[in-house]
Amino acid sequence: MDICDLPVYIQLDQLNQLRDSFEQQSRRPQRLSNKGKTLFVLAHPDDETITGAGYLARLGFLAKFRSIDRLGSLWNKLSGKLPRQFALAKWVKPPVVYYATLGEKGNHNGVRTDEPLKVVRREELKKAAKILGIKTFVDRFSDGELQQIIWRLELRILAFLKRECPDRVITFAPSGLTGHADHKAIADATTRAVERYNQTAEKPIELYYRVIDPNEKGITGPFITYDPEYDITHTKSTSVFRKRILRAIEAHQTQVPEMGTIYTAFEKYAKKPQNPPRYKGETSKIWREETYCRVK
Ligand SMILES: [Zn+2]
Repeated sequence: MDICDLPVYIQLDQLNQLRDSFEQQSRRPQRLSNKGKTLFVLAHPDDETITGAGYLARLGFLAKFRSIDRLGSLWNKLSGKLPRQFALAKWVKPPVVYYATLGEKGNHNGVRTDEPLKVVRREELKKAAKILGIKTFVDRFSDGELQQIIWRLELRILAFLKRECPDRVITFAPSGLTGHADHKAIADATTRAVERYNQTAEKPIELYYRVIDPNEKGITGPFITYDPEYDITHTKSTSVFRKRILRAIEAHQTQVPEMGTIYTAFEKYAKKPQNPPRYKGETSKIWREETYCRVK
């Protein structure tokens, strides 16, 4: 039977169903792109592990292939076809992360207590950055004081955007993901800096907030905050990078007892410093997917 043979009210019903399913599909989150240059703007070393360690690990991994692009070209000449991995890697630029502070007012949690915390945290960040394959830039603002100097922070971020010219910028959602005042300040300052940048830029920057999926309760601990007013518009699968994410978190040894309240993978260490630190998280409790909201 053809649809035209059906009574008009049934035809209309079917058209409505089609429209609903189309609308549902168009609302479905898209996959976040790997192409171009991605910049994360964050407050403290270790913030990258809450916001986008999986996405960063993927970009870092793909960007490494750029250095063997020549091999890809040679392969192209020999086989007449460019392998997908190389073709994709050509478009991925090394990811960059901006940190406003060194997190020097945090806690040693028993790790190398005879050295200033900022020295220890810088080294931890270096290790984590190597694991994720990211470039880092640490600014000189004071930990815990970003709310007081928000306009200066905005100008610094704007200058950094002009230097780096990223295609997309990712920062915290307005709740700060843990409610930390510095996280909220950096989200606010970044939003304003991107707005100002886009007013004059030839190529506007896409701005994303990292939002947490409330269905991920088994993954996130009690300190995580949600931003229900920001829908999930983009996702990124992180399954294959879960071990790498775990290693990056473990690299921030001074912070694992804090992270135990954010990640259930480390909940047995929550507020329980170990000396010497021997932290081992559970891979099965790391995000399989990261969720983002495009706001501009
Ligand atoms: Zn932080």
